[in-house]
Amino acid sequence: MRPAVLLLTEHRGELQPFIETFSPSPQGKGFRLSTGEGDVLFYCNRGRGGLEMTHLLYALSRDNPFQIVINAGFCGAIEPGLVPGRVFTVSGGVMADLHLEKVLQPLIEAPLHRAESRRLITLPSLQPGLFEKAYAWGSLVDLEGYYLLSWGKANGVPLLLYKMTSDDNREIPETSSMDPGPLAAALQEDLDNIMGLAADSLLLEAVLRLGLPLERSSEACKWADKSRKERLSFTRRHELYRSVKLDRDKKPGPPQQDEPHKFLFMETELQNKESFINAFPGHQPFSIDHYLDYFQTSENEGTSAIYIARKKGEMIRPKGAHYGRPGWRHYSAFNGYNCPMDCLYCFLQGYFKNASPVLFVNRGELLNEMRKKASQEAGPVLFHFGDFCDGAAYDAITGNIAWFSREIRNQETIFCEFRTKSVALGHLTGESAHEQLIMGFSLAPQKAVEQWERRTPSLERRLETAAKLADRGFRLSFHLDPLIIQSEDDWRDYEELAMTLRDRWSEKGLFSVSMGTLRMKRDTYRAIRDRGRGTVLRGLVHEGGFYRYPEEVRREADVRVGRILEEGFGGCYYVCMD
Ligand code: SF4
Repeated sequence: MRPAVLLLTEHRGELQPFIETFSPSPQGKGFRLSTGEGDVLFYCNRGRGGLEMTHLLYALSRDNPFQIVINAGFCGAIEPGLVPGRVFTVSGGVMADLHLEKVLQPLIEAPLHRAESRRLITLPSLQPGLFEKAYAWGSLVDLEGYYLLSWGKANGVPLLLYKMTSDDNREIPETSSMDPGPLAAALQEDLDNIMGLAADSLLLEAVLRLGLPLERSSEACKWADKSRKERLSFTRRHELYRSVKLDRDKKPGPPQQDEPHKFLFMETELQNKESFINAFPGHQPFSIDHYLDYFQTSENEGTSAIYIARKKGEMIRPKGAHYGRPGWRHYSAFNGYNCPMDCLYCFLQGYFKNASPVLFVNRGELLNEMRKKASQEAGPVLFHFGDFCDGAAYDAITGNIAWFSREIRNQETIFCEFRTKSVALGHLTGESAHEQLIMGFSLAPQKAVEQWERRTPSLERRLETAAKLADRGFRLSFHLDPLIIQSEDDWRDYEELAMTLRDRWSEKGLFSVSMGTLRMKRDTYRAIRDRGRGTVLRGLVHEGGFYRYPEEVRREADVRVGRILEEGFGGCYYVCMD
């Protein structure tokens, strides 16, 4: 059977320029164009809406199994500054009610798109108005795109959506006067690529698995050819795509000309909004009912956000076995999510859908939970601030360290450790320093900082900040975690750092020193690999439910780095989670 591609529009007017541009022959209620590579069928849904469109898709695909389905049509623009008449492909879409401020159906990524694409919000009905907040979800609005994405996902058919902006969504759009010609021009530009993919299932598979945009689809030819020549089975092909992804490292691009659009989302019930507005200049402030309404959808391209919210539900969580200084009870305290830094190995990439920082402000409720838990435990309890966020990056704004320091001072079984890579700690005074409050610094050799810990302060600045805090009387801990070992030089860098700590800090009465090698759960591993950050994962193997270095590397870490730390710090040194 010849490969077939379907182009579907909602309205007849949107189909017309395709008929004029490609001159297909009428066939039943649609049209057919035969090309050297296969056929393109053209149909419209006669304005019957998204649900009917999926029915039409099912009906058409019964007779013609399509390799690719394309949707083209008008859309409104939510993103500021998008002028009418521009054509975008869609990178993915959600279904959302803008009036209710609810995402009704989760994000589905569009399998095929151009490099410059936009996210789409499909509405349950026309909702004209200026919905500035919705730009955090998507840039374009329509009434049918999500139905197609959903149909494509359910049926395993790659979708490509072209959307042409017709208006800025402030009023009911008047599209009859718009010329949809640019939609047909966009398809004309991409048609060779599209038909090439439709005609070669291995090439299409490689493009989809490697997440390549249409313009770069030819890059996948060598993998398709290899699969063909070597007759690779399904499993071996997927191993091949995995290894290609692991070797690809997306370099951070040149600084964006346009700064991201920055939102400051604050829950309506919060007091003191003014202080956060002043703390985050350049962020557009908005009140929202519940941070999860926005945080649960990954941030739209071109936007970033900071959330100020009240934590509901779980406020503390027991840490896993083998965690922390032996003989103590350890709990994570939830005082925020994410952070402004960008470590390539950060487990939060696979944990939250959204990378924007959330600051929880109901610390009184958190403290009550901590007191309750401490009263149930026999010995001292250490609460770790910094497991789901950096423990101190925003402290100059929240003042959490000084506040918890005051509150726990006379409750001798409660200890708090704020773990950080931040050096923005000049505001902390000796008044907050006491036995039960620990400032923990995550450390790595400078080369590893530059390679793997983007937007973080240098090793030297972290150690300088630690020294200043020690001078003010703060109790400290150091964490060489994770060790990322990919060469003999890496081993030497970690040994040198361990020796520096041993030689300069062993007399300073640190609370704890830990070491752990890179390890992560499967979701994190996949998230990192699929974001084009695979080189940090080199050398990890799947073992005991985790991705981690093989046993011999972990033991070598004990011998080469752990031994030095143990020499310096004795009983307060521990190996983390191994
Ligand atoms: S500082 Fe911590 S929370 Fe922030 S990106 Fe790095 S590992 Fe993740």
